[in-house]
Amino acid sequence: MKLYNTLTKKIEDFVPNNEGIVKMYTCGPTVYHFAHIGNLRTYICEDILEKYLKYVGYKVERVMNITDVGHLTGDSDDGTDKMVNSAKREHKSVLDIAKFYTNKFFEDTEKLNIRKPDTVIPATSLIDDYIKIISKLLDKGYAYINGGNVYFDTSKIDNYYVLTNHNVDDLIDGVREDVERDDNKKNKADFVLWFTKSKFDDQELKWESPWGLGYPGWHIECSGISMKYLGEYLDIHCGGVDNIFPHHTNEIAQSEAYLGHKWCNYWFHVEYLNDINGKMSKSNGDALIVDTLIKKGYHPLSYRYMVLSSHYQKPLLFSYDNLDGAENAYLKLKTKVLKLNKEEMPLSEEYSKYQEQFKNAMDNNLNTSLALTAVYDVLKSTMNDYTKLKLIKEFDEVLSLDLTKEEVIESSLREDEIQEFIVKRNEAKKNKDYALADQIRNDLLEKGIILKDTREGTIFEIKK
Ligand code: AMP
Ligand code: ZN
Repeated sequence: MKLYNTLTKKIEDFVPNNEGIVKMYTCGPTVYHFAHIGNLRTYICEDILEKYLKYVGYKVERVMNITDVGHLTGDSDDGTDKMVNSAKREHKSVLDIAKFYTNKFFEDTEKLNIRKPDTVIPATSLIDDYIKIISKLLDKGYAYINGGNVYFDTSKIDNYYVLTNHNVDDLIDGVREDVERDDNKKNKADFVLWFTKSKFDDQELKWESPWGLGYPGWHIECSGISMKYLGEYLDIHCGGVDNIFPHHTNEIAQSEAYLGHKWCNYWFHVEYLNDINGKMSKSNGDALIVDTLIKKGYHPLSYRYMVLSSHYQKPLLFSYDNLDGAENAYLKLKTKVLKLNKEEMPLSEEYSKYQEQFKNAMDNNLNTSLALTAVYDVLKSTMNDYTKLKLIKEFDEVLSLDLTKEEVIESSLREDEIQEFIVKRNEAKKNKDYALADQIRNDLLEKGIILKDTREGTIFEIKK
């Protein structure tokens, strides 16, 4: 299997450290708000990666954190803690906020058929481990205490920018130009491992440490959780492209300084979901959540289909037109699959040819849109229905589009839209264009809408 590796900036053969086992770490959500469908794009693509690794026979050990402390509004130790802000906004405690949005996150991921990783660890549950790592970094001379905080000294490592094309001159205080300066930092790119003399006196959650009452920085969480549950050698680490710098860059610096050897071989990053204003983000009022799509009448898996239709390394533009297109294609595809005859038949000889087509697509840097083409090609083929169903079921272990799951495909049309079609059909009948009238009736039927001509006119029923 070939995958793009952000570390080497090349598409490479994926070879895990231990034969047959993949240790996979995923940066989890910061649970201060609902996950938007941009976040969920990243989790869908990571889910596909995990499921495909399993499909080709690996045992995957996957760990994900839940960020419930330390993630500031600026990624470079500037701004305020996102959790604290949210608790204030909602007049709740930080832990209540974390619990509420964590549960909501898993409800949303379930609606999109994203499998919950085997091990999910809230950052606040491993404070002692971060303290241990930070103490060792201090002992080894990779960290220093200044103004009460503990900082990682990026000048102590040779290749801090290993994951990025940044160079130190591009950076002001590690990340952006509008970042407030922290005069305690010896080098621009240094970052906080532990806050004690906090600029946030109202920080709700604080823990005792050798450096005083305080709390961990965001980056140390992921290193600590990953090393505790997956050991010193990680195969693949995932996240959205905005995690590359500074989050993953800092994770590499501190983990390798702590361990004294290379930590993770492959870095997998998913490009943004954008809307017309640019990157979808939680702080942007227009961020869309799955429930909004469902309320508008979309099947949640139409969004999954939309994500799979594009490559994970390409930005994806969200618009309702695009989603309409995806929903149309998805429901048509599902309807076709559900019509296949389930009667058992001998498997066609071409079975493995289509399996190969699917594998070639996925082996080629997870080309999910070509993998979908394999599904369409199976349907178009001359193989018997039973073989087609078996192949599609197999591919769907990875795609997770519920293609063979019996369900009533509910209409995504609103009542006024259906009425418009009825008017059009009546006009067609008046003009004796019976072909068009029939086509409108059949198109609606495919969407689960049954038209009935009565003496009072045409009425419709939604197929149950
Ligand atoms: P957060 O909850 O903000 O920590 O983000 C959770 C995950 O979503 C991270 O892996 C981010 O990189 C990713 N992410 C954030 N915004 C987007 C976006 N617009 N498109 C795709 N992934 C995103
Ligand atoms: Zn992380």
